[in-house]
This record gives sequence, C-alpha cells and structure tokens, in this order.
Amino acid sequence: MQDKPVALVTGANQGIGFQVAKDLVTDGFTVLVGSRNRERGEAAVKEIGLDARALQLDVTDQASIAAAAERIRTEFGHLDVLVNNAAISHTSKLAGMSVMEYAKLTRPSVVSLDEVRAVWETNVFGVLAVTQAMLPLLREAPAARIVNVSSGVGSLTRNADPAFPYRSIFGPVYPASKTALNAMTLAMAIELEPAGIKVNAVSPGFTKTNLNNYEGTDTLQEGAREVVRVALLGPDGPTGTFTHATLGTLPW
Ligand code: NAP
Repeated sequence: MQDKPVALVTGANQGIGFQVAKDLVTDGFTVLVGSRNRERGEAAVKEIGLDARALQLDVTDQASIAAAAERIRTEFGHLDVLVNNAAISHTSKLAGMSVMEYAKLTRPSVVSLDEVRAVWETNVFGVLAVTQAMLPLLREAPAARIVNVSSGVGSLTRNADPAFPYRSIFGPVYPASKTALNAMTLAMAIELEPAGIKVNAVSPGFTKTNLNNYEGTDTLQEGAREVVRVALLGPDGPTGTFTHATLGTLPW
C-alpha cells in the first residue's frame, strides 16, 4: 500500500493513452500503463520512467481484466482514476485506408456486421467490462474519477446538423461506438453520483495517432490535455459531462 494516487489508463502503450499516462506520472500518480501486449507495455513504461508500471490488459478479454483488477487490489488496494482510453477504429480487415475510404466502406447499407461487432466489443463493451471490474477498487478511493475517452464524431446533436463538417463520416462502426460510449458515460455518471465517483466523457480532438493513420492534426500533448484535466477534477468538479480542450462542453 502507498500514499500516491493510483491511475489506470487502458491502451496506454501508444498514442493519446501513452501521453495521458506520462502526464499523470508528472502530476504525481503511480500510473498503471494498460497494454494488451505485454512487451509493448514494458517498452512504454521504460520510456515514461518514474512511477509507471506495465499492466497486461486486453479490454475484450474477461480473464485479462479480472487478473488486472486482482493485481491492483493486491498491490494498491484501491484505484483513484480509471481512464477508459483503449479503442480501435477498425479491424485489420479495413487497415491502411484513408478516413474517407473507410467512411465509404462502413456506411449502414454496406457495412460488415462483424466489423461493427468487433469495434463495439472494444470501444463499448470493453469499457463497461473494465469499469465493472474496477468499480470495487474505485469505491475504495476517497474521490474516484472515471474518464471515458470518446470523440466529437459520436455526438448525435452535431451529426444531426447539416453544417457539421464530419457529418459525412458518421457511421455505425467507430462514430456510433462513441455515441454508445457517451450513453454509457451518462448512465454510469447517474448511478455513481451518490457514491461521489465522477464519470465524464472527453473528446481529445483530431490527434496524430495510429488510429487515424497519423492523419490527425493535433499533437499527442494537445490530445491528452482535456483527458488529464478531467482526470484531475477536484471534489467540486462536475460529473456527466462531455468536453473538449478548446471547444468546451460538447453536445451529446
Ligand atoms: P492509438 O494510438 O491507436 O491507441 C489506441 C490504444 O488502444 C493502443 O494502445 C491499442 O493497443 C489499444 N487497444 C486497442 N484495442 C485494445 C484492446 N482490446 N485492449 C486493450 N488495449 C487496446 O489511438 P489513439 O488515437 O491514441 O486513441 C486513444 C483514444 O482516443 C481512443 O479512445 C480513441 O477513440 C480516442 N480518439 C482519438 C482521436 C484521434 O484523432 N486520434 C480522436 C477522437 C478520439 P495496441 O498498440 O496493441 O494496438
């Protein structure tokens, strides 16, 4: 057991999650760097240094989730911050495409149901599974926070507006998985508010990562900023919000 707050970031071996883990270490946390691949997790932890520890965690594998929760219980007894960051935009079948090519192949009229199921398995059901497993540990913390890393492309309100620039790529695979994640966020926030556990969704913005073939325009530091801010909310901070670093509150 130790005095430092403890954070778990899923999918933290690369991209925005890696940067969030790095920033939370700088902010005084012991950070569990979730990685489905053990070696990639170890490599990330070497780079972050200080108080980062690799934790094998595949959010689609119940045994891996249970083992991760058990290890956190044994080593720390509680969890202060859970960042549900891990996500995929497509399976390997649709790898290497531009955002526009991908949008065309994943329209509701033609999309493969297997593709929808695989992406939702990680981005939606994975989040619910990890959150359920970590909740007993979060309840042991004095003021726990859950941050769900969502996306502005999942906003129903924005996509209903013909002027929204990303409207043409709204589809049932990745964008709608983030809509469903937003719904999960609100449901969790409502249930956990009496327990003092804050649950918020964040849009990192269009960030240069593997998820979008590095077509994003923002840096990892910019992408991680709002996630970290919301992870560090004080006791008077809000719950059940959906925000972006520069745009502020986003419509659901
Ligand atoms: P990324 O660089 O591709 O990172 C995604 C991370 O999730 C990787 O570490 C990946 O592990 C991990 N992951 C995937 N499936 C997993 C599983 N089953 N179990 C555990 N980990 C898994 O993408 P990113 O852009 O940083 O994405 C981070 C978050 O930001 C995601 O929630 C994404 O939807 C959101 N987001 C990103 C953007 C953007 O423009 N980049 C915009 C809006 C929202 P591997 O290394 O093993 O593949």
